[in-house]
Amino acid sequence: MAKIICVANQKGGVGKTTTAVNLAASLAVAERRVLLVDMDPQGNAGSGVGVDKSGLEQSIYDALIDDATPAALILETEVPYLHLLPATSDLAGAELELISVPDRERKLKGILTELSASYDYIFIDCPPSLSLLTVNAMTAADSVLIPLQCEFYAMEGLSQILKTINLVRQGLNRSLGIEGILLTMYDARNNLSRQVSEEIRTHFANETFETVIPRNVRLSEAPSHGKPILLYDIASKGATSYLDLAKEILDREVVNG
Ligand code: ADP
Ligand code: MG
Repeated sequence: MAKIICVANQKGGVGKTTTAVNLAASLAVAERRVLLVDMDPQGNAGSGVGVDKSGLEQSIYDALIDDATPAALILETEVPYLHLLPATSDLAGAELELISVPDRERKLKGILTELSASYDYIFIDCPPSLSLLTVNAMTAADSVLIPLQCEFYAMEGLSQILKTINLVRQGLNRSLGIEGILLTMYDARNNLSRQVSEEIRTHFANETFETVIPRNVRLSEAPSHGKPILLYDIASKGATSYLDLAKEILDREVVNG
């Protein structure tokens, strides 16, 4: 059965999609079978692995709303071992359409349960909100990975998402864990970056990943080429940092059996 990790933060632009794409690709390079699930109507995770949304006839929307067979929606990517369950802009409407669906918070869980046996890891890239789509992701997941940009309101944002995780734990998914807090777009020359990172590490010593993702222009260029960083510039700081993060996750396999 796959380990299901949801990449979430209600704030946009903090590195959710970059992390979902590049961590998924780094684990695929280590020959883990990985499924990247795009739960953001913007479909950036799909573009990040080179899938052109405009040519898609079906997407995760059809599984959530019309009970399409999930396995039929999966696409291969340029990276061996990395598959994509794509999103299109239809997904923006799913939020409202799901309201009248029975068990609306558990739709994604049902979909991933059908796919779980074929993968070692499933990553869910969430939209920038704590909406029904994100709640679906948290309900389906074993754990949440929280990318956090080292900026002024980082702590406030973090406490908000931790509250949501606790709410989900109280009902929809009692065993939801925290995979880790990931400091992203870190700039060692910036005092605020350093202060925020120290503050997070003080309060969340056990939850914060050792790996820090630096601000790296190659990471921001790669999506426009439709490639994970490993295929775009394997020698970049961005590539090595996501490989380090993958190693931290792989080390947990040994610990957890
Ligand atoms: P989110 O999914 O949380 O909205 P993204 O992963 O799309 O955030 O990142 C927002 C923007 O910042 C994108 O243009 C992305 O390419 C860029 N970006 C993300 N991580 C980095 C990084 N470590 N260094 C430089 N640019 C980054
Ligand atoms: Mg995103």
